[in-house]
Amino acid sequence: MRVLLIGAPGSGKGTQGALIAERYRIPHISSGQLLRGHVERGSELGLAVEPYLIRGDLVPDDLILSMITDELAGPGAAGGYVLDGFPRNVTQAEAAEKTAELDDRLDAVLFLDLPPREVLDRLAERSRQSDRPDDRKEATVQHRLRVYEDRTRPLLDHYRRRGMLVPIDAVGSVDEVAARIAAVLDRSDR
Ligand code: AMP
Repeated sequence: MRVLLIGAPGSGKGTQGALIAERYRIPHISSGQLLRGHVERGSELGLAVEPYLIRGDLVPDDLILSMITDELAGPGAAGGYVLDGFPRNVTQAEAAEKTAELDDRLDAVLFLDLPPREVLDRLAERSRQSDRPDDRKEATVQHRLRVYEDRTRPLLDHYRRRGMLVPIDAVGSVDEVAARIAAVLDRSDR
C-alpha cells in the first residue's frame, strides 16, 4: 500500500496519516515531522531548514528531496508507506517520479478536501493547542495557507491528469473521515 496525502494545513493530514499507517501497518512518513526532528536535534539539515519552518515557507527542494528519497529507499518503506506533506509542489513530484519512481508505485493520492471556512476554524483551534511555533503565530499560519494555494494546489491537477487523485470529503469527525478513506483504500488493497 503506497498512499500520498495532500491537503491544506489543518485538513487533517497528520491525524489521518497516523490512522492509515495503523490500519495498513505501514510507516507514516511525514516530511514536516522529519524536518521538525532535525531542527530539535540541531542536525546540519535542521539548522539549514529552521528559518523556513519558522516563516512557514517551503524548504528548498534539493534539501527535502534528498531527505525523502533516502527515507523511501530505506528498509522501513519497502512494504509501503503513507506519505504526508511530500510532494508539496510540482517540481518535487516530478523529481521524485524520477528518483523514487513515486508515480508508478502509488496506489492512491488522497486529497483531503476542506472548505476554506473550516480550514480557518481548525487552524484557529490548533493555534490554541499546538506546541508548533508555526501554528501559533497568526501571520505564519496565513502565510502557510498562501503557500499551499500558490505552490501545492497545482499538484491536484498534476495527479488529476494522471487519473490518480481521489478527493476525500474532510468535513466531519476524525472517525467519519477515516471511514471514508478506509472505504477507498480497502478497495485498492484487495
Ligand atoms: P507540515 O508539518 O507538513 O505542515 O510542514 C511544516 C513545515 O515543514 C512547512 O511549513 C515547510 O516549511 C516544511 N515542509 C514540510 N514538507 C515540505 C516539503 N515537501 N517541501 C518543502 N517544505 C516542507
